[in-house]
Parts: sequence; structure tokens; C-alpha cells
Amino acid sequence: MRRFLSLLVLCLAIPALLARVPKAGAAASRTGLDLPGMDRSVTPGDDFFAYANGAWIKRTNIPADRGSYGVGHEVADLTDRRTADLIKAAAASKAPAGSDLRKIGDCYTSFMDEKAIEAKGLSPLKPALQAIEAIGDRQALAHYLGTTLRADVDVLNATNYYTPNLFGLWVAQDLDDPERYAPFLLQGGLGLPERSYYLDPSEGMAAVRSQYLAHVAAMLSLAGIPDAAARAAAVVELETRMAQAHASREESGDVLKGNNHWIRADFAKKAPGLDWEAFFGAAGLTQPEVFVVWQPAAFTGLSALTAAVPLGTWKDYFTFHAIQHRSRVLPKAVRNQSFSFYGKVLSGASKPRDRWKYAVDQTNEALGEVVGKAYVARYFPASEKARAQKMVANILAAFRTRIERLDWMSVETQAKALAKLATLKVGVGYPDRWQDYQGLKIVAGDAFGNAERAERFEYARNLRKLGHPIDRSEWVMTPQTVNAVNLPVMNALNFPAAILQPPYFDPKRPMVMDYGAIGAVIGHEISHSFDDSGSLFDASGKLNNWWTPEDLKHFQTSADQLVKQYDAYQPFPGLHINGRQTLGENIADVAGLAAAYDAYRLSLHGKPAPLVQGLTGDQQFFLSYAQSWREKSREPLLRQQILTDGHAPAAYRPATVRNLDAWYAAFQVKPGQALYLSPADRVKVW
Ligand SMILES: [Zn+2]
Repeated sequence: MRRFLSLLVLCLAIPALLARVPKAGAAASRTGLDLPGMDRSVTPGDDFFAYANGAWIKRTNIPADRGSYGVGHEVADLTDRRTADLIKAAAASKAPAGSDLRKIGDCYTSFMDEKAIEAKGLSPLKPALQAIEAIGDRQALAHYLGTTLRADVDVLNATNYYTPNLFGLWVAQDLDDPERYAPFLLQGGLGLPERSYYLDPSEGMAAVRSQYLAHVAAMLSLAGIPDAAARAAAVVELETRMAQAHASREESGDVLKGNNHWIRADFAKKAPGLDWEAFFGAAGLTQPEVFVVWQPAAFTGLSALTAAVPLGTWKDYFTFHAIQHRSRVLPKAVRNQSFSFYGKVLSGASKPRDRWKYAVDQTNEALGEVVGKAYVARYFPASEKARAQKMVANILAAFRTRIERLDWMSVETQAKALAKLATLKVGVGYPDRWQDYQGLKIVAGDAFGNAERAERFEYARNLRKLGHPIDRSEWVMTPQTVNAVNLPVMNALNFPAAILQPPYFDPKRPMVMDYGAIGAVIGHEISHSFDDSGSLFDASGKLNNWWTPEDLKHFQTSADQLVKQYDAYQPFPGLHINGRQTLGENIADVAGLAAAYDAYRLSLHGKPAPLVQGLTGDQQFFLSYAQSWREKSREPLLRQQILTDGHAPAAYRPATVRNLDAWYAAFQVKPGQALYLSPADRVKVW
């Protein structure tokens, strides 16, 4: 659900996949709308994205180190440069050993010390390779798999369904009982982003597969494995069998299909093959009696593979993943090989990002809230927090009025929806309570060890939640993340400080433009509580149907209409957007934009909006929205996004305007134009 931008999901999944920072943030200092960036030769009713952004698209070159580039990247670039400065200042401060400042300084500097990394060669990988070598039977295999389990997936908040390990863990409130934490287990194990990369018979995908095979062989060679080509073929064959067992991205997004409670004894019966007790023991999961198994058929299939596939193939598979996973902190030959596939082939970039940008990522991953605390102290003044809170309050009020006025909804359902809205906990800028990193050991000069320990620290932090009361103050995004998120089970929102910056949120321009940009994001995140899966949770966060059957039917009919609307978009011949896979995000876009629009009108108190840059208030609102989505993508990355992401590509999101009556009047949109919808076909879910 719950993120409105997609640039980070994949970034965390496969670090080299997406280059996040551009060379120059040309428009980051822009105030107001970018009129020269528009293309007025395009009719707004035919292609609103191109009308608002066409000249910008033509003149913008995607930087060589990235697969896509747009507003989100501009802001992330600025934020990363500021973050790097803060970290470098921490490193220079000679803070006492063991202090948080010293840790971020050492984490960053170690990562930057390429000489030390080169000198160590593959020796940091040795313990892992020895553990793999020592696997002598199926029980040892299960034990090894248990040691690889990480808290690296997230079903409902940041929505990351990808883990390179065979399984991934998410610890969150039980969907049936939001008063307790449950361990959620997800499918994983693929080196390619999603099952269709293995199974799609098209020529393009076949080409990606053959390059992947060459990449696996090259990595195995680098790890010193003889006969790498043949052994890589067996590894890719194993991953292909995993892909056949996997649930699709669309199925994985279905909360009702995912909420399967298995008791510990169920695993041996429902998913025979793996020695589950050995697995759980090695994973430190000896206590929980109940798990939530998100893709049960995949667990059956993956578990069977652990018994059926030769141990030798598994060991080669582990070797490949061990070296791949840590490629960023291994010698240059490994990094270059990793980039040649994940950077070039999968995202279309032609050169890796600057090392310091990866170092910022690594420090953010390891010590995110230490960095975040420094970031907000320097860059997020109390006045901006207050201004953002005011805007949130206005949009919440507009959303409440919308619910009250829904003519199709019964009074009972309406009361439940209003109760849910009233209990929404909105976090702005940063968490009320910061995370404690005391137990995390960061060693100067040990980039590999730091990455390893940070990952285990995060895993242990999540395991510790089990059996304890729910911490409702926890955030799932750092303040320096350019994104926003809805946590449906917590019934909470996080708006990190980094997205509350120009050009999303800018004190120097007319408020209406902020409503069209960050206002629509705020509305979007609020609406997630009421999208196709968010609306299944009640005010307490419990998965609980609070709808009357008639109301639910009406809601689903509108949702189906929206599915059709997005299914019809075809970015490439033969590849259309999956309206079902992106439904939650599309509902949030429509409802969020409508609420932001209402809030902006309310803020005028009946007066007309002043003309600015020759544009009416409504024109400023919708153009600001469309310009906040400007982004240009390389084909491989865009294809990947369509297959793996819950969001429609950025260039299609401004088309949401076609569901709002006010847009038609603002731009004289007429029947016959490509985006025109008759009033009956305009989707008004909320
Ligand atoms: Zn979203």
C-alpha cells in the first residue's frame, strides 16, 4: 500500500538496481510552476502528462547512472547531498567511541575506503562460504536457510515483497488481533525481480534470462567455483522452479489470500520437505507458536525443492547469493560484475552511481534514525512541521466531509468510516521517539562486517517485538526518505521530513500549488485507509468487514471500473498496466486528489483564487499535480516496474485527473479527447 513513490522499493531489494541520485537537480530550486517545461501543443484532454511536462521530457536526459529521473529524484538528490554532509561532519567530529555520531561516521568512512576493501579481497566472505561448504545433509541445509532469514519484506506498509533469501520475515500486528505482533513469512529466493522474468516466453525476457545466466556464472567464477557455466545453469534452473512455485505479484497484494495462520506443527504437514524445526531454530524463531504464511502454495513448493534438488546445486545457489548480496562491500571486480547485470541490463543505466551515494544508502540502512535525527534538526524547522500539520488537518476535514456526503453509502457504513478516519494517527516529519542503536557494533575499516551486523541488528530488533506490546510510535520510513506511507494495521501515517520540501511543499509559492503536489500525497496516504485492502481493516486495525453488503458491492463496482481504466493503458505494445495489481494505489490517487482539491477550495473561504502565472487557481492545482509526477524512465526499468510495482508508472498517474469534474472545466476538456470520460464513467470511490 502505502508508499506513494516507487523509487525506493526496488532500491532496497537489489541495491544496484536503481540509481537514485542525478548529477544536477536543475529544478529543485524552482518556485511556482515550470511553465517552460509544458508542451502547449498537446491538448490537455488528450494527454495531460505531456501537456504539463512535454518540454521537460524532451529536454531532459536521464543521467547515465540511473534508470529513471524525475521530481522525486531531484529531491532525493538534494537530501542525499545534505545527508552526506551531515555524516561527514559527524566523521570529522571525533565523537567518542560507541556514540551514535561516531557510528555513522565510521559506517560511512569504512564504506568509502575502497583501498581497504580491495586489500581484503574475498576474505570477509570466507565464513559464509565455509558454512555453505560444510552443508552435508538436508538438516544442515535447513539450518543454513534459517541463518539467512532477515526482516527484509513488508506486506502492507512499505510494500516490499522481494527478498533474495528463500523466505523473508515481517513482524507486524496480527491482522486478526492488532494487540499482538505476529511473524509473517513471505516467499523469496529469486535473483531476478519477479517470477515472470523466469516464466515469460517473450524474446525480451529470454534475452534477460540468458544475460542473467552469464552473470551467475561470472559471479561463481569470481567466488572461485570451477566449472561455473554448468553450475550456474543448475542454479538458474533451481530459481526457475522456485518461480513456478511463487504466487504472482497481484496475488501477493491480496490481503485476504495472504492472511493464513499456521501453527508450528502445520509446516511439516502443509509444506513437507524442509526440516522446519532446524530452520526455525537457526532463525531464532523457537518461541512463536503461530505464523502468518502469506503465500501458502509457494511455501509448499519451495519446501519441496529443498528436499528434491541436489545439495550441490543448493550450495552453488547459496554461494551465488552470498557474493551477490554483499557485492557493494566486496572488491571492484565483484561490484562491476554486479552492476553489469543489475545496473545495465535490468535498469538500463550505463555507469554506476558515485560511491558516496551508495555510502549514504548504507549508512541510512544501518543507522537510519540517527542520521534522521541530525537531518531534521538541521533541515526541518518547527514552522514547516506546523504548516504541514495544518495542511493534514485541512485535508482530513475535507475527506470527512466527502464521506458525510456520499449519497450511495448507508448510515451504518458511513459511521464506521468516520470512526476510522477519526482514529487515524498522523506522524509528520519524524517519529516522537527515536530508535536505539546501542547494541549495533560499527567497526572502522570493516565495511563488510558493518553491513552484516546492521542487517542482523535489524533482524534481532524485529524478533524482539514478538511477545511485547505494540509500539504505536514506531515509524517505517526514516525522516530523510523522500516518500510517505500508510500503516493500515496501525491506522497511522508517516510523512517524512524529506518529502515536505520543495517542489512538493514550498513556503515561497501560492498554497494552491502545494495542495496539488504534497496535498495530493497527503490525501493519497489518508485514502489508503479506504482503498481496496485498507478498507478491509476497521478503526482498531483489525481485518474485519465493517461494510453492509450493498455498500461493499457499490464500492467494488467502482473499483472494478478503475481496474478497467488502468488496464487500458499500454506503455509498450503487448504490455499493459495491471489495473488489479495497482488498484489500491489508483484508488488512493483518485480519492487523495479529490480530497486535496476540496481542501484547497475550502482554504479560499469562498473567494476566487488569484491568477498566478496567467493561470486560474484550478489550473494551478491540476498542473502542480501533473508536474509533481514528472519522471522519465528507461525501458528496462519501466518494464520491471510494471511487473513488480503496486503503483502505476509516474507518467500515468496524472491521468487520474480525468475522474474529477473540476478538471474538465479548468481545461475545457471535451468528448472525443483521449482522456475524456462521460460523467457516469468518472470513478468517484470516496
Ligand atoms: Zn500509495
